Amino acid sequence: MYFENQTFLVAGLSRSGIAAAEYLRGRGAEVYVFDDVEDAAIEESYRRLTQLGCIPVKKDMLFEKAEMCDVLVLSPGIPVDHALPVSFRRAGKRIIGESELGAIALRCPVVAVTGTNGKTTTVTMLENVFRTAGKNAIACGNVGKPITSCVKELGEEGLAVAEISSFQLETLTSLRPHVAVILNVSEDHLNRHYNMENYIFLKSRLIKNSTESEYAVLNYDDPVVRGFGDKTKAIVEWFSLKEKVDGAYLENNWLCYNGERIMNRDELPLDGEHNVANALAVLAAAKIMGIGNASIIAAFKNFRGIRHRLEKIGSVGSVNFIDDSKATNVDSAIKAIESVKGETVLLVGGKDKGYSYEPLFEAVKRSSVIHTVLYGENAFRILDAAVKCGFTSVTLCRPFDLAVRVAYLTAKRGQNVLLSPASASFDAFKNYEERGDKFREIYKNILNERESADFEAGESREETDE
Ligand code: ADP
Repeated sequence: MYFENQTFLVAGLSRSGIAAAEYLRGRGAEVYVFDDVEDAAIEESYRRLTQLGCIPVKKDMLFEKAEMCDVLVLSPGIPVDHALPVSFRRAGKRIIGESELGAIALRCPVVAVTGTNGKTTTVTMLENVFRTAGKNAIACGNVGKPITSCVKELGEEGLAVAEISSFQLETLTSLRPHVAVILNVSEDHLNRHYNMENYIFLKSRLIKNSTESEYAVLNYDDPVVRGFGDKTKAIVEWFSLKEKVDGAYLENNWLCYNGERIMNRDELPLDGEHNVANALAVLAAAKIMGIGNASIIAAFKNFRGIRHRLEKIGSVGSVNFIDDSKATNVDSAIKAIESVKGETVLLVGGKDKGYSYEPLFEAVKRSSVIHTVLYGENAFRILDAAVKCGFTSVTLCRPFDLAVRVAYLTAKRGQNVLLSPASASFDAFKNYEERGDKFREIYKNILNERESADFEAGESREETDE
């Protein structure tokens, strides 16, 4: 790409859009910037980017200005079948994402991770392992910093640990990771990718450029991911919870790598088999990168999990509140109910993503979930699935605030209130973080109310005692 001779339109001014515009201006490109949201944050972004020499585009001028641009830098939040990218494609012009710019610019090795679930957990663990081993590793991409903002800091000696989502893979063609990790593929984002074939194809793109000198770390237990093994030129290392594969596996409760016992599973401070699978993927990738066992073990032992992922936030009168707001699809919610110990009242709902909730209720029936509270926009679709599966211990209560309180009132001492929505958050929240934070706020309110009630009850008892 000849930055100085080309005109770019950066569409969508989220963190990665802003980083792309900054990166391009830094290389002398002419840059137009656009976002269809009109709020104070976007105005502030326009102001900052204008200072760098970017040119903001008003909504009514978008397509006129687009005609003047050579390359569209599309935010992962905007689908590739939106009218703007369609107009670029019709004109035979290039559409890329910020991560594509990053892939072209990076000079250091890349360990890249994709999959439906577990990307952030795995990338964060990998960054910890590499940093414990003294490497200048940076988690970037879909988590942490945009890739283009890390290029300088990483230089040639660093190690980019890139989380790559299916949305990013729509506009990413040049990435050739030294190690590509694919964790799993289950139904998600079908409202965006239309069907599983498209979604699977996008996930397979991570290993599309791999040659015989690169590695693919693939989940042997996932039939779709296992199938990728036949399609890549990369050297395949597997990870598995069930089989003694070439690579990383679980044997007699030990995390092992090619015949070597590395660490006992019980020393891993994370709940859930899915997190053991994530750790095995990390183990394989770390070993390929030449990391010693001591650093891997130390990083695993010190890993404390990540916010909004099976996060234990506290208890009220022995009812435990667990925030798994990041479980935005059915598979991650199933993993949550399989991981949580003890009887549980499950909160499910939010923005629908176009898949079936029946597998969730089949899993609920096998689990220690005693009741589900359905909230949000898709509550009736979920109710339909519950009824079809014959799970009738359900309350439908659409407002989130009320639903959390109903879940708390339903739970008995020693039981859990688990927020694991199996849905996106955008019906009522900015993102899953805001939903998780709201859950925590409601928990705190309930706690305070309970403490005040206990205090008043204590006082009136004292008054009666007198
Ligand atoms: P991602 O970045 O892919 O969304 P996260 O690590 O943020 O993944 O986890 C998202 C949700 O999926 C959380 O609820 C988490 O508990 C669950 N999860 C984590 N790892 C896995 C896995 N390997 N398989 C299924 N669910 C997982």
